[in-house]
Amino acid sequence: MARILDGKQAAAALRERVRAEANALRADGVTPHLVMIRVGEDPASAVYVRAKEKASASTGIESRTSVLPAETSQEALAERIADLNRDPRVSGILLQLPVPAHISEEEMIAAIDPAKDVDGFHPISMGRLLLELPTFISATPLGILHLLAHYEIPVAGRRVVIVGRSRIVGRPLANLLSSRAAHGNATVTLCHTRTRDLGARTREAELLIAAAGRKRLITAEMVAPGAVVVDVGIHREPDPNRPGKQRLCGDVDFPAVSEIAGAITPVPGGVGPMTVAALMANTVAAARRQSGRSAPQR
Ligand code: NAD
Repeated sequence: MARILDGKQAAAALRERVRAEANALRADGVTPHLVMIRVGEDPASAVYVRAKEKASASTGIESRTSVLPAETSQEALAERIADLNRDPRVSGILLQLPVPAHISEEEMIAAIDPAKDVDGFHPISMGRLLLELPTFISATPLGILHLLAHYEIPVAGRRVVIVGRSRIVGRPLANLLSSRAAHGNATVTLCHTRTRDLGARTREAELLIAAAGRKRLITAEMVAPGAVVVDVGIHREPDPNRPGKQRLCGDVDFPAVSEIAGAITPVPGGVGPMTVAALMANTVAAARRQSGRSAPQR
């Protein structure tokens, strides 16, 4: 039976470190401040934003959410972002995705000041990541790095297979894990919808990261005995044990794979809480950098 990599526990440890740093900044007169912008009424976005507000409150970060109507023009949204870019009290700006179809996600992300890009989606943040320069690493990949570090899972020299090449998860993770940084030095294979014989690739993995957004795509036959499995997927489905209720599941067939794997993240309670805690870490780092202070020694 696989060891469970408990994201709630690892996230609590990360939030504790973030809180200590936020308190030290506050004592120096710097208040980390996250502003989230949500356009329209996507129910999942509302849930995610509430989780981020709660995590902010628990880590000493001030947060506020602007909810703009779905019909907000791109110009009006750009103006809102420009106001926040100019506001010296604002450390981090997060545009909750998705935005309505008439708004260009790319243009709006590019409108955020890279110094306040705590989501790490700005082209400058992404480019710096590729160049192995200090930057904001987007929250899900950063959360996964923290999770691996928390459970002392070695990465260097190992065979990592990532399923999913999205800009927010798979692609940055592939770069981070293959980089020369302490969290990197793995040999990474990045799989996607055009990969031939996905199972043959995933069975090569010592560390398998499933981020395809496909319910239970990863079955027990696709996993090598003893592999570490990180499940990024989040899906809602009817709960067979509680009629009328929903439950969450991931990209991995958890009951079967946990019989084979050496360690595995659950859904919920795995990568999700790490993502939120990593955003808090980025917000405090933004406040620190803007105030000209250097990173605390760990
Ligand atoms: P996405 O849809 O943007 O990208 C999915 C990628 O997976 C694509 O690159 C596609 O090529 C690949 N893919 C899809 N089906 C495949 C298949 N059958 N075989 C191989 N590759 C396949 O998704 P995303 O935004 O990266 O999100 C992935 C999943 O992670 C979703 O379920 C999402 O809800 C979840 N997610 C979770 C968190 C978290 O905090 N836990 C954060 C972000 C995303």
